[in-house]
Amino acid sequence: MKYSQENIQITRQELMAKVQMQMSPRRFQHVLGVEACAIELATLYGASLELASIAALCHDYAKERSDETFITWINEQQLPLELLNWGNAVWHGIVGAEIIKQELLVTNEAVLNAIRVHTTGAAEMSLLDKILYVADYIEPNRDFVGVEKARQLAYQNLDAAVAYETEQTLVHLLAKKAPIYPKTIETYNKWVAHQSY
Ligand code: GDP
Ligand code: FE
Ligand code: FE
Repeated sequence: MKYSQENIQITRQELMAKVQMQMSPRRFQHVLGVEACAIELATLYGASLELASIAALCHDYAKERSDETFITWINEQQLPLELLNWGNAVWHGIVGAEIIKQELLVTNEAVLNAIRVHTTGAAEMSLLDKILYVADYIEPNRDFVGVEKARQLAYQNLDAAVAYETEQTLVHLLAKKAPIYPKTIETYNKWVAHQSY
C-alpha cells in the first residue's frame, strides 16, 4: 500500500520498521494482527484502508515508553495535568498520539483521534475510531473468554461489537478493582447502558 503524502511522509514499509523498533516481537505481532483486522473491517464498513492501516500500525507505538517519559510529555506539552493520576493504560493512547505526531509526523487528525481513544473508547466515535477499538480487541493473537463472540459481532454489527467490548472491559476492570477512567464510563453510558443490540 502506498500512503499519500498528506497523511504520513513515509512508506508503509518504513512505518513498519519504525514501529517494530519500539516494541517486543510479541507486541509487534499484535500490531500486525490489528492492522490486518482493521483493513478487513474498513473494507466491510467502507472506511479508508490507508487510514485504518496507519492508525493500526501506530496505535501502540508508545506503549513501551517509561512512566517518566509520559510524565515529562504531560508536563512539557501542556496536556491536562489530571492525566498524571493515571498510568500506562491511559497514557499510551492519549499521550502516545502526541508522541506519534511528533516522531512519525502523522498529521491526519482522524488517525490521531482513533489512537487517542483506542483503549477507552468515547461517547462519540467515528467509523475509524470504532474500527481501531474493535480490531485491537479481536485481532487473531488475542485469546480470552469472549473473543469469539466479539469477532462474530464485529463482522455483523460494529456498534454491537463496540458495546460488547466495552462491557467486557468494564467487567474485567471491576473484577480487578482497577480505577475506571471517566471516558471509559462515558463509553459505557453511550454504547452499553439501555442498548439492546
Ligand atoms: P493493548 O494496548 O493492545 O494491550 O490494549 P488496550 O490499549 O485496549 O488496553 C490496555 C489496557 O488498558 C488493558 O489492560 C485494558 O484492560 C486497560 N483499560 C481499558 N480501560 C481502562 C480504564 O478505564 N482504566 C484502567 N485502569 N485501565 C483500562
Ligand atoms: Fe493499546
Ligand atoms: Fe493494542
